[in-house]
Amino acid sequence: MTPPTWFDPQDARLPERLWRGLMRWLTMGDQHTSQVNLQRKIAQTNLAALMSALTSAAISMAFWLNGNPALVTAAWLNLPFPFLFLLVLHLNHRGQAALACWTLFSLLMADVLVGTLCVHSVLLAGHYYFIAFAVMAPMLFSASHWRSAALVLALNIALFLVMDLSAATPHPDLAHIDQGSLALIRKGIVGTCVILLALLIGVGEYSAALSDWRLQQLATSDTLTGLPNRLALRQTFARELALRKRAWQPMSFAMADLDFFKRVNDEWGHDAGDLALRHVSRLLCGQVRAGEMVARMGGEEFGIILLADPPHALSAVQRMCRAVENAPFHYNDQVRTMTVSVGLTHMSPTDTEQAALRRADAALYQAKNQGRNRVVVAPMVEGA
Ligand code: GH3
Ligand code: MG
Ligand code: MG
Repeated sequence: MTPPTWFDPQDARLPERLWRGLMRWLTMGDQHTSQVNLQRKIAQTNLAALMSALTSAAISMAFWLNGNPALVTAAWLNLPFPFLFLLVLHLNHRGQAALACWTLFSLLMADVLVGTLCVHSVLLAGHYYFIAFAVMAPMLFSASHWRSAALVLALNIALFLVMDLSAATPHPDLAHIDQGSLALIRKGIVGTCVILLALLIGVGEYSAALSDWRLQQLATSDTLTGLPNRLALRQTFARELALRKRAWQPMSFAMADLDFFKRVNDEWGHDAGDLALRHVSRLLCGQVRAGEMVARMGGEEFGIILLADPPHALSAVQRMCRAVENAPFHYNDQVRTMTVSVGLTHMSPTDTEQAALRRADAALYQAKNQGRNRVVVAPMVEGA
């Protein structure tokens, strides 16, 4: 069936493209720092600038539509602000995060002051924005600029109090505004304050979770091969063993070591050695099922967790040996057959992770001594 003519396959991914576009704006400038906390603040500042530009434009539009002369004057004076807020993103893009923060708060305060003073009144509740800006200050300035944060916070509280306590007479034109419009504008202003704060907190939480995840990834994966590292292997091993002990299900552990790997480095160089490690990693991973794990324990040694009964675990590691042997490693028009030796051990219900590692290591040692490119199974332990 042919798709209708209006159907554009590109549009099918529109939400995803919009999301990516938004994320590009929000993360603008975060490449200047590797500090995840600072990156979070940059994203929040960018979001606040975008939200402020939109809110400022929307409020100006509402003032114009209302037609009250005092509001229309305020709308005209407000006109440059939506564009000026974009300057904040530009400053972040150039790596000037502190200046970007100051620029944002200066513009915000100026914008609200213009709007509030224009109508000579706090009748529209615009001065409540100062409370929102005071809360935003410690969220957006980095910890090293805490003095700036404190100053902006104090400034905004002071502006709120001055505005709230000064009994300025409303602009005469405001006398003609109907109560319905007045209530609507007030709700709009207070509503946008709440939305702005909620979004900033939300983005902060989201990026904090993302940073946690990135740090976790860094701590538990091997940068060369992309495989889980020794720490991740130990964690997964301990967790799986505990789970499988509850209602005993078989499990095995293997250690694989490349044979004569030093020769690759010595004869073809370290870069070739690195590529060979990646090549073998891919081949080993191709033989495990979902839930199982191949990890790089260090150097040219891999740890393998197999969630299978002994015969299936044995055939999986044998397949690994054959896969490595049958897929020669190519480097600069040269070819080399790689092989691995494997020590395999089956777990028992009373087993420990440390004991399994010791047995697999001893079996691997035997595989090397018996001529390499083979699997040696460690003797079964009591209770297996
Ligand atoms: P055997 O068959 O007895 O295991 O011999 P082998 O040469 O594989 O073992 P040996 O322990 O003598 O050498 C291991 C080599 O692995 C030495 C080290 O330089 C190399 N190696 C360890 N980590 C890396 C790495 O990340 N990249 C590269 N290119 N080489 C590595
Ligand atoms: Mg080796
Ligand atoms: Mg080794």
